[in-house]
Amino acid sequence: MTIRKILTEPNKILRQISKPVKKVEDEERKLMDDMLETMYSANGIGLAAIQVGIPKRIIVLDISRKEDQKNPMFFVNPLIINKNKEQNTYEEGCLSVPDQFAEIDRPSKCEIEYLDYYGKKQILKAEGLLATCIQHEFDHLEGILFIDYLSKLKKNIIIKKLSKQKVKSDRIVV
Ligand code: ZN
Repeated sequence: MTIRKILTEPNKILRQISKPVKKVEDEERKLMDDMLETMYSANGIGLAAIQVGIPKRIIVLDISRKEDQKNPMFFVNPLIINKNKEQNTYEEGCLSVPDQFAEIDRPSKCEIEYLDYYGKKQILKAEGLLATCIQHEFDHLEGILFIDYLSKLKKNIIIKKLSKQKVKSDRIVV
């Protein structure tokens, strides 16, 4: 498994719409393994392929947050086939929007149809944190980041901060 570089906003690649996977093969499984490793090493609970620069409709999640009880989940070509009207609010963050957090409202329950790690079709009913995470990751496949739900002012402040951080991280002192 390889830890890949996570792209951070502002980056045009993160705004691309990811393409459906034709067939889940070894190449996709290798990507999912790498994504999971990358996500764990960054202490994240979800990652979409586009965040490592691959425009495929693939998501990995592990909301267990326990070192000894890992529960990785893989979603290929996920479709949200049902959402309920009731909303939940979570303070969200994102590995592509480092150190920034905001409260976001999303449907509290959703139903997803997807292909699993082996390419088998599955349906999952999600609620609570899992429902929020799936919707957050699904947004990545559409080129949407959680900061897009904020006011223009708040969003611009965050993007400015991120741009400054980026300039700093590009500096090298030798
Ligand atoms: Zn994210």
